[in-house]
Amino acid sequence: MSYEIVTKNNVRDRFISYNKPTIWRDCDAKDWNNWIWQQQKRIKSMEQLEKVIAVTEEERTAFAKSHEMFNMGITPYYASLIDKNDPNCPIRLQSVPKMGELHILPEEYEDPLAEERDMPVPGVTHRYPDRVLFYTTHNCPVYCRHCTRKRKVSDPSSATAQKQLEDGLVYIESHKEIRDVVISGGDPLSNSDERLEYILSRLRAMDHIEVFRLGTRNLVTLPQRITDAFVNMVKKYHPVFIHTHFNHPKECTQESFDACAKLADAGCVINNQMVLLKGINDDPKTVKMLNHKLLMMRVRPYYIFQCDMSQGISHFRTPIEVGINIIENLRGWTSGMAVPHYVVDAPGGGGKIPLMPNYVVKRDNKKWELRNFRQQNYTYKEP
Ligand SMILES: *Cc1c(COP(=O)(O)O)cnc(C)c1O
Ligand code: SF4
Repeated sequence: MSYEIVTKNNVRDRFISYNKPTIWRDCDAKDWNNWIWQQQKRIKSMEQLEKVIAVTEEERTAFAKSHEMFNMGITPYYASLIDKNDPNCPIRLQSVPKMGELHILPEEYEDPLAEERDMPVPGVTHRYPDRVLFYTTHNCPVYCRHCTRKRKVSDPSSATAQKQLEDGLVYIESHKEIRDVVISGGDPLSNSDERLEYILSRLRAMDHIEVFRLGTRNLVTLPQRITDAFVNMVKKYHPVFIHTHFNHPKECTQESFDACAKLADAGCVINNQMVLLKGINDDPKTVKMLNHKLLMMRVRPYYIFQCDMSQGISHFRTPIEVGINIIENLRGWTSGMAVPHYVVDAPGGGGKIPLMPNYVVKRDNKKWELRNFRQQNYTYKEP
C-alpha cells in the first residue's frame, strides 16, 4: 500500500518556520539538523543568551540567583522560537529564569507528588495498581522553568546509574501486575539510542508488559532528535506510545511537524500533556488553537495539568477555575478529539484527580436534569 508523503501535502505549510538567530544564521544546515550539535551548543550562560535575545534586567538578576539551584539550558532550535524583544514571549517564559523562581511559599514542596516516597526501589514510582513511572536519566535538552522535578532534573549528582536502571528493571520484571511502563526522567530521549534500545528490549521481553510510553519533550525542544535510526529502532518494540509536552501554538513548527510525522508513520501513538501556565496558555483561545495544531500533527491532546505545588513556580500557577473554564469552552464547541482531561495531580501523592464543569443540574431519583454546552437543559430518565 502506498500513501502520499505527508511532508509534501499542504498541511505542513500551515506550520511556522522560524528564522535562525543571527549568531547561527551562517551555520551549516547539517549541523543545525544534527541533535548532538544542538545539544552541544545549548545556551547555558548569560553571555550566550545576550547574543540571542535582548535580556532584561530582571532576567539577568534571576539567572545569577537561580542557576546554582536549577540550571538554564536552551537548545539553539528552541532559542530560535523566542521573540527576542518580547519579555513575555511564551517560549521565553518557559526557558529563561524569572525572579518568581526565588519565591518559595510555605505550602510548596520540593517533591509535591511524593514520587520519592512511593519508590519501592530508587528510580521506580509505583503508585497506581497496574503501571509505573520509570526514571532513566536526569538530563533534558531544555530545562523548563516550570518543571515539577526541579529537585532532580539537571543535577548531575542524581544521574541514573546503570545499577539503578538494572534494579528498576528487576523490580518491573518481578511485579506481574505491571502492564504499562511510563519511561521518564528528565527526558528519556537524552539517553543514546543504544541505551534506550536496551531498556525497550528488556521491557518487551517481559510477558506481563503490554505497553510502554516514552515521556519526552524532545518533539518540542529538540525535534532533530527524532532521526530515522531512532524511529527504526522504536518500531521494533510496538506498541510504543509517545507522551509529549507542547504548551503553546508557537511551539508547533515545521520541525516539530516532521518529528511527529516520523513517529506517527512508524506507528507510534502520540499524546500531549499540557501544563496550565499563567501568561502562557491560561485562556481557552490559546488552548484551542494549540489543540487544533496538535491534531494536524497527529498528536492527541491527553491531559491538561494544573501546575504542581513545586517550589519556586508559583508565578506560573493559575486558579483552578481557569482550567475548568478552558474545558467549558472546548467541550461541544470543537472536536471531542481536541478536548483533553483537566487534572490536578494531588499534592502528597494522591494521584491525578480529574476536574470538569458540572453538567448535572439536578437529580431526582431516576430523573436527571442535565445541561449541554449551550447551557440548555435536558432530562434523561432511567428505566
Ligand atoms: C501520571 C502517572 C502515571 C500515568 O498515569 P495515567 O493516568 O495512566 O496517564 C503513572 N504513575 C505515576 C506515578 C504518575 O504520576
Ligand atoms: S522536559 Fe520535562 S523533566 Fe525536563 S525540564 Fe522540562 S518539564 Fe522538567
